[in-house]
Amino acid sequence: MDGAEHTIGIVGVGLIGGSIAVALRDRGFEGRLVGVSRAPERLARQANADALNHISGHLSEAVAECSLLIFCTPVDAIIPGVRSIAQQIQPGTLLTDVGSAKAAICNALTSVVPPSAAFVGSHPLAGSEKQGIQHARPDLFHDRCCVITPTSATPTDQHKRLAAFWQSLGAQVVSMTPEDHDVVLAKTSHVPHVAAAALASQLDTAHFPLAATGFRDTTRIAAGDPEIWTAILEQNATATIECLDRYLTCLGEFREAIATEDVSRLKILLEAAKRNRDALD
Ligand code: NAP
Repeated sequence: MDGAEHTIGIVGVGLIGGSIAVALRDRGFEGRLVGVSRAPERLARQANADALNHISGHLSEAVAECSLLIFCTPVDAIIPGVRSIAQQIQPGTLLTDVGSAKAAICNALTSVVPPSAAFVGSHPLAGSEKQGIQHARPDLFHDRCCVITPTSATPTDQHKRLAAFWQSLGAQVVSMTPEDHDVVLAKTSHVPHVAAAALASQLDTAHFPLAATGFRDTTRIAAGDPEIWTAILEQNATATIECLDRYLTCLGEFREAIATEDVSRLKILLEAAKRNRDALD
């Protein structure tokens, strides 16, 4: 990477925070990496933790020395985390996060961070249902989209600085408002998660041996951490409910076509779905 950042703090060094750390090292970052953990000794014992120069149990220690601070905790811990260090943020510091919902976080934090610094949201569209730094991957962000969500209050130089950071990890950066992010992600991630969870939970254990590749592929994301996902769905409730209503209408159309033996309608619905799915690849 180009060396623009010298000391980077990662708060919550799990799958995403850990992948940022190993990706930085893999791409030749020679600066200092500080991890912040609620259990520093446990984190230090994990695979990949050697990417960090220092692990601190105190956020205030990291904010004192880092020019870029990335919050990688569950979404419900991001606002309280930034608020807790608001008075100690140094001029010029760029704060960001990787949370999967953006409007509540960005709206709350834009005014919390002093004008001499900036908070700009991020959401790398990369990850998995696994948790923890032991599953971190240096190529996790390579060629993957990373949404960043500046607001009208974001200074242009801090917007560019954040984009350059994610590009340095190989990501393709897309900028949009936090609200637009939440509407789109409800469709592409949050409702799919609910759908997968509903599918997974309605299968009787007696039928597990008959659940083959299709069921496993369709429900893979339901294995994600319930705490992480409860917080995401809570923060993006409005857009998720609107999108869920459209999905339920669509399910109702399938149900109606099957119940009325309307095979031509059923074929049209399946063809439209196949066109969309094929176009994704
Ligand atoms: P993770 O592997 O569980 O890592 C989160 C880390 O945050 C944990 O290792 C934990 O570290 C710390 N943490 C957990 N609960 C906390 C709390 N209540 N307060 C403070 N720190 C806490 O989860 P992840 O998958 O990396 O997800 C982290 C963030 O990335 C979430 O906001 C999620 O929405 C977002 N995200 C996830 C994905 C994905 O596919 N997984 C993709 C894009 C974005 P310590 O125990 O060491 O403190």
